Amino acid sequence: GFSVSELWKAHMRHQDPAETLNKDIISHFVLRLVYCRTEELRKWFLSMENTLFRYRFRLESPESQRLLMSEFQLPYKALPHSEFEAVKDKLSQVARSIGQSASVESVFFKVPFEEVPDLVASRRVFLSKGYAYVAMSQVVSLVVTQFRCNISKALVLTNRKWTATIKEQEKDRLTPIVEALSNAYFGPDYSQPNDATEISPKDIDQLARTSFPLCMRHMLEKLRENHHLKHGGRMQFGLFLKGAGLKLEDALTFWRSEFSQKVGSERFDKEYAYSIRHNYGKEGKRTDYTSYSCQKIISATPGVGDHHGCPYRHFGEENLRAALNNMGVGGNALEGILDKVKNRHYQLACTMTFEATHGVSCDTGINHPNQYFSESQKVLQAKNQTVQSQLST
Ligand code: SF4
Repeated sequence: GFSVSELWKAHMRHQDPAETLNKDIISHFVLRLVYCRTEELRKWFLSMENTLFRYRFRLESPESQRLLMSEFQLPYKALPHSEFEAVKDKLSQVARSIGQSASVESVFFKVPFEEVPDLVASRRVFLSKGYAYVAMSQVVSLVVTQFRCNISKALVLTNRKWTATIKEQEKDRLTPIVEALSNAYFGPDYSQPNDATEISPKDIDQLARTSFPLCMRHMLEKLRENHHLKHGGRMQFGLFLKGAGLKLEDALTFWRSEFSQKVGSERFDKEYAYSIRHNYGKEGKRTDYTSYSCQKIISATPGVGDHHGCPYRHFGEENLRAALNNMGVGGNALEGILDKVKNRHYQLACTMTFEATHGVSCDTGINHPNQYFSESQKVLQAKNQTVQSQLST
């Protein structure tokens, strides 16, 4: 994985500070457009922008912090001296209780308490008659709230304009880019089967038990159960197997042996073999299709009877619990995973499952089912080698 500062240095920094600023602004507005289009995208974007803003605001000088406050037109006036004197003791009590020096800063703002929920929740502010007395150094909460509110409104407006006019006007130029960007995946390319990890149909069940992520285990199970998968599942699972190292001929054998039990091998050859060759770029446009990243799978909306999608996102809690138990995950690890799911951190939940089932930490995080598979294989091979070297000594 890359750290934020590495990425920043590689893509955003420029000798000319004006140019750096320019890139910052352009990238922000590009993302605004991409992430304005659904409630879920907007939520994600808001929380990322919020974190970034909080971080950056803290780094600014007091002077530019003040400038920004006046730019936001926050309707707060510093507390007049007489009023300050009246509550001074209370303020220094609060300051002491949160471990700050007893000498109270002299600039305070009096704001309706509901505007600084995080300060109230963590009891870091003096409250009286519905007002919170916020120190200059705590002002970041106010500014962040205002920032969030501004961006949120702007996103809704952008979305309105986008759907009303721009989307149609730009349907040949900008729209495909905007629609693809929120699903874009910038990790390694898993479209080419890696020769080192060729797999054969007879290995699939064993590999599913040890190394498939939950989404793919689930599809294999449904395939075995119904001897059929609908189109979405065939694509998602087929491309995953291809990326894991299943060759075209083996893929045809594998799918034929399942599907022919339901539809007969003649119908399989007529109706389904084509789409499998298609996945491998042997039919139609002859594009070599890439297996789906987690982001793409997570944002899918599987219908009734579909089994593709991400179980962390698309299963109910009970099913997810059962599926994880099935993988041998229980206790605290299980609760931790479900907690991540509640907070919509599906990929983190998957990463924690990987860690729990492999007994190693996975710092890069899971962002692609094929990455899950290859990381898992690496761990297992390393373990095998240790065992073998122990046996030979
Ligand atoms: Fe599959 Fe990714 Fe969901 Fe894990 S997070 S189950 S790899 S889609």
